[in-house]
Amino acid sequence: MSAYDRVIQGATLFDGTGAPGRRADLAIRGDRIAAIEPAIEASGAARVEASGLALAPGFLDVHTHDDFAAVLMPEMGFKVQGGVTSVVVGNCGMGAAPWHQACGYAAAFHPGQALPQWDGYAGYLAHLDAAPASCNVAALVGLGAVRAAVLGGESRAPSGGELDAMRAIVREGVEAGCVGVSSGLIYEPGKHAQLAELAALAAEAHANGGLYATHMRDEGAGLLDSVREAIATGERAGVPIQISHHKAAGRESWGLVRESLALIDAARARGVDVLADQYPYTAASTVLAAVVSYFAANGSGVGRGDPNDVVLSSAPKNPDWEGRSIASLAAQWGVEPLAAAQRVLDAEGISATVVIHSMCEDDVRTVMRHPSTMIGSDGLPMLHGKPHPRLYGTFARVLGTYVREQGVLPLEAAIHRMTGMSAQRFGLADRGLLRVGAFADLVLFDPARIADVATYADPHHPPAGIARVFVNGTEVVRDGAHTGARPGRSLRKH
Ligand SMILES: [Zn+2]
Repeated sequence: MSAYDRVIQGATLFDGTGAPGRRADLAIRGDRIAAIEPAIEASGAARVEASGLALAPGFLDVHTHDDFAAVLMPEMGFKVQGGVTSVVVGNCGMGAAPWHQACGYAAAFHPGQALPQWDGYAGYLAHLDAAPASCNVAALVGLGAVRAAVLGGESRAPSGGELDAMRAIVREGVEAGCVGVSSGLIYEPGKHAQLAELAALAAEAHANGGLYATHMRDEGAGLLDSVREAIATGERAGVPIQISHHKAAGRESWGLVRESLALIDAARARGVDVLADQYPYTAASTVLAAVVSYFAANGSGVGRGDPNDVVLSSAPKNPDWEGRSIASLAAQWGVEPLAAAQRVLDAEGISATVVIHSMCEDDVRTVMRHPSTMIGSDGLPMLHGKPHPRLYGTFARVLGTYVREQGVLPLEAAIHRMTGMSAQRFGLADRGLLRVGAFADLVLFDPARIADVATYADPHHPPAGIARVFVNGTEVVRDGAHTGARPGRSLRKH
């Protein structure tokens, strides 16, 4: 009988700390890493020959909308086949509880699919343990859902009693082990929340060391004020701040990331714990409803609102619209772009999603180089339509395009920003590092070949160059293909 279940031999290990790779063997026993040595005998254990490959902690996708994908399509091939072993859900204010609000969000990405019922975040996380996904799931409390549950769509501030009711919802999530709270300040109804309300609710996360993640109010011309608001909110709440999908959106705002990064540096210099995440693409993606309200408020002719740059990625009732820009639909229909967008919205409702080509490569690289940045996909988990390719390709694209081809970061630094840094940030114990005793969440890949394959036109493809993926010691990807295993767990912070 062997001391180990599996021994991976001959790989170059990147341990997730940012240290350079080193040649070693790694042994798995049960759900943990049991040994890391220059040479480990495989007698009796399954042997994985890995010469020439890199072995890293499984990637942590810190910015996802996989709340309901983990329940409704638990194999999550679009994640694990890309090397992701843990996801953080509940971003941009959209949470898995209260359940009635969750059903509304689920309708956007999973049209026609009913959610099983659960009670609060405790019920959601228990559901994931009883019916596991292929990867691990940590959850944020979505403050948009909290506001919707108590105030509906109202644009006013909450009364004292209403704020107490909102606090109680957040507290339930924090006590269940959620890793923080999130806001989405461009979305209905979360955008009606002002700083005092956000800080009062984020303060609840202080109880277990959770953070405040925010999709900021304006990622375009108002980026700097938005970063200031995010920092002020976390400071007032006394919790760390996580700026979601850090970017400058819209031609008129390109270059502003230098100043927004300087704001992060300045805040950190005076002791404020603020970091950010990023996906490695120059296009954004969201629900069309949010873009239409932006068009309506800002005019539809310039910059971020250019209807040529807004491409329908999902229109389940009219799939022939998918891949078409709002400008081209408007021309076909002989109407103004705003009217065309409204027509799509009337036909498709919340299920209409778009890709928005709104950023520049220089800014993507500038943000990626900065030490405050970790990687998160922001993928919209849709198996239909043409979802933004970040759903499949985020981590491989960083390692292929930005590390290998462009040299934006050393390989070990990029891996750190998708493993050890992320696990520490979100308080995911014994994850994100190759260390004896840590959970055996692992990705084995070829650093010379890893590349994103998904494109805007043809997104439904896993990356190239990912050989094997293990979650809690169980193999979920072999030779790039899903094994069907679902060894994921809920990750709770206490
Ligand atoms: Zn967002």
